[in-house]
Amino acid sequence: MSFRNVVQNGYCIGCGACKLVEKELRFKKVEGIPVVNLDSIEREDNNRLDMICPFSEGAASETEIADELFKDVSSYDDNIGRAVGTYAFRLDDKKVTDSSSGGGATWILQQLLLKGEIDKVIHVKESKSSDRLYEFSISESVSSLEEGRKSKYYPVSLNEIIEAVANDTGSNYAITAIPCFAKAIRLLQRNGMLTNIKFVVGIFCGHYKSEYFHQFNALQLGVKPNNIRSYDFRVKSENFRSDDYFMSVTDLSNNTKYGRISELFANSWGYGLFKPKACEFCDDISGETCDIVFGDAWLPKYTSDWRGTNVVIIRNRELLNHFESQNDIYFEAISPQDVINSQLGNFRHRRGGVIARNKFVNGWKPKKRIELCQKHYTEDRFDLYKRRWELSEYSQMEFTSAVGSRKYFLFFTKLFIKILKFEHKNGDLFRFVKSEVIRVLRPVVRFLKRRHV
Ligand SMILES: Cc1cc2nc3c(=O)[nH]c(=O)nc-3n(C[C@H](O)[C@H](O)[C@H](O)COP(=O)(O)OP(=O)(O)OC[C@H]3O[C@@H](n4cnc5c(N)ncnc54)[C@H](O)[C@@H]3O)c2cc1C
Ligand code: SF4
Ligand code: SF4
Repeated sequence: MSFRNVVQNGYCIGCGACKLVEKELRFKKVEGIPVVNLDSIEREDNNRLDMICPFSEGAASETEIADELFKDVSSYDDNIGRAVGTYAFRLDDKKVTDSSSGGGATWILQQLLLKGEIDKVIHVKESKSSDRLYEFSISESVSSLEEGRKSKYYPVSLNEIIEAVANDTGSNYAITAIPCFAKAIRLLQRNGMLTNIKFVVGIFCGHYKSEYFHQFNALQLGVKPNNIRSYDFRVKSENFRSDDYFMSVTDLSNNTKYGRISELFANSWGYGLFKPKACEFCDDISGETCDIVFGDAWLPKYTSDWRGTNVVIIRNRELLNHFESQNDIYFEAISPQDVINSQLGNFRHRRGGVIARNKFVNGWKPKKRIELCQKHYTEDRFDLYKRRWELSEYSQMEFTSAVGSRKYFLFFTKLFIKILKFEHKNGDLFRFVKSEVIRVLRPVVRFLKRRHV
């Protein structure tokens, strides 16, 4: 019953793992995310579905899965899980600028292919279909891996390829996965499926975005949702710190426009706009079930280098060998606390917030590792978590109707008022108005300066 609860209560993230158990399952888009369509099955195999859905009560927790997988790794931190070591990484090659952070995820996948440890990689690339921008694809060469670089804050699903991967028993795979997808793969493996996936290469996750996120940003650059050809979520610039990055959108006539994230409206991750409900009940920030995990080194020591740097957690000892005696990489041990410090907001909202959301969200909700979350919670943030939840839900619902009516200007106006109220209640109205004025004026000042040079 828990699997049905996940979907009916809006906690399906659309990973597609259940498609391997119930072949006739279909997916449909709800508020910009492909999720399970319960109407596509008459009777579900409850037991097996409950065991493999990452949000189901019948599924093993991340801690239980990692305890089994990495039992030989004694070093454990209750924030980041088991680790052989924690590091900072940067590819010492100009290709690093084509990646989101230090290029570590692509680099390790290339090493595994080159050394014959895997035959194929499942990762996210531009889609060939016209109904989506990105999708999981399979790469079999180092050059093909290049096409997948960069984070896609975009809803993707394994449902269309999972059966083909499972049937390809003669090939060894690696897969890139955010924590909930990694958990789903591990749950399938615990039940004897997808055992040909040899390595799960994780990426840290703050939260996911529905497809409205890139549409919302593109609109701010004057490109309507039905006129988007491609999108780049992470554009680096030599003149800016690595955490001060840009996005770009290319329209159907091949015109590309750039926007600096900090100069786009409502781009604070703290607002949680266009966020699936599942992310509010997810306490794994650092991919605790992955063999290796890469994140952004949001630490002053590293953000000053515009090329970008990864934080890395290695959990599978076998993978450490690949990093040793390599001369085209920057690879330095850092402390687990450094890794945690690079994601503090994430721990506060996801783990601390779960305690609050368990109190104010009605109805069925996924079971969480409360014992790990408690220390991140303080009572004085209860109302903030509640307001964020409301803002996030509002953005998803209102953008759905804006897409239907094409009344985008009305959406922006209503959202602006909503955020004004949100900041007012947080006691941050003055700071918000000031930052909005600066945000609007900054590009104007830059333009005027350039004209006078
Ligand atoms: C939704 C999302 C939220 C994130 N939140 C955080 C965060 O809060 N904190 C943080 O430190 N880092 C976060 N990251 C991870 C970070 O942005 C980088 O992806 C990570 O540091 C790896 O960078 P890299 O330069 O090593 O990877 P790259 O060399 O750029 O390679 C990235 C690899 O990951 C694959 N990939 C991209 N998007 C996805 C996806 N959605 N699902 C599966 N595979 C994908 C690509 O195909 C590519 O193979 C997030 C990423 C995503 C997709
Ligand atoms: S397994 Fe994934 S796709 Fe299936 S119901 Fe659970 S979250 Fe949704
Ligand atoms: S926050 Fe958790 S549930 Fe949401 S996408 Fe990231 S890993 Fe998945």
